Amino acid sequence: MNNRRSTTPVRIGNVVVGGDAPISLQSMSKTDTRDIPATSRQVQTLADAGCQIVRIAIPDMEAASALGAIRHQTAVPLVADIHFDYRLAIAAINEGAHGLRLNPGNINREDHLKKVVRHARDRDIPIRIGVNAGSIAHDYFPGEPVPERMVFLAMDQIRMLEEMDFRSIKVSLKSSDVLTTIEANRLIADRMSYPLHLGITEAGPPLTGGIRNAIGIGQLLTMGIGDTIRVSLSGEPTLEVEAGREILKSLGLSTTGASLISCPTCGRTTLDVPGIAARVSELVRTIQEPIRVAIMGCVVNGPGECREADIGVAGGDGKVLVYRDGVFAYSVLPETVYETIATEIDRLLTARSSVKYDKDMR
Ligand code: SF4
Repeated sequence: MNNRRSTTPVRIGNVVVGGDAPISLQSMSKTDTRDIPATSRQVQTLADAGCQIVRIAIPDMEAASALGAIRHQTAVPLVADIHFDYRLAIAAINEGAHGLRLNPGNINREDHLKKVVRHARDRDIPIRIGVNAGSIAHDYFPGEPVPERMVFLAMDQIRMLEEMDFRSIKVSLKSSDVLTTIEANRLIADRMSYPLHLGITEAGPPLTGGIRNAIGIGQLLTMGIGDTIRVSLSGEPTLEVEAGREILKSLGLSTTGASLISCPTCGRTTLDVPGIAARVSELVRTIQEPIRVAIMGCVVNGPGECREADIGVAGGDGKVLVYRDGVFAYSVLPETVYETIATEIDRLLTARSSVKYDKDMR
């Protein structure tokens, strides 16, 4: 998007958020942080799926010290999610957190907040201020619309950090209501230049939540608003990453990972498109290489989509047409289509990696 809002970048480990940096993808671990093996495994699974920043909850000191152990087992930057207790923030920073998610207003004493800010500044890590519509106090600007109240609260929190001369800030304004989230982010985007972390919170299970996030995040991104995204879903965390990547890819903001094109099927279908698409979707889940695979039920729209794909199949009369790099290559029987696609994906990835290898050796 060439209308991207100008923001002051912050760095979270090896990931830059804001400025000209590509829009990054993040998620949150759902394990008990104190369970170091389980959390490390989940963080790595998220990283393998393409997650660039992982947030982990720090509810107590044991979790803060677990963060130190988890950090050494992954290269992905970790953000410590802290509420209320400044000592947890300091412990997480000391354990090597690459960023904090903490609301200054939740730290009761100014001297405690100053300590957190001093530690964050010393370690050069940013703080994300996060306002959730559901947690605004009832008596906070009660007559104002919810998006305005969210913006007021975020600006209050920002001011608290700025008064301590701390500006390595990232901001999120989230609601479970899509239109409220859009409006709040649209409003705050005009009032400050810190990077925005987008997401619809408490969005629901994968289908509902995926749609809500796609509409909310997608709408804001098309306005040029947003620097990093997290799709919140009640479900497996890698789904959040996959959904987030689909949002970015749909808007031309990422070329990472496989794109699957498949038709809805109709009375002309000669192929088990849903079954094959589900298997291929599973197969390509962790592929980071940008490949486009088309699975089409017949020759009405099949050849057209296959010509735009790296690998395409279109159902035909008793056989299935297979396309490579947009060109018809050969036909196979319908019952071997999945295996054919899997073999073609292998071939494509091997060919691309040997081209890369040759380039690197030159
Ligand atoms: S590609 Fe063919 S089978 Fe698939 S929806 Fe279109 S017309 Fe129907």
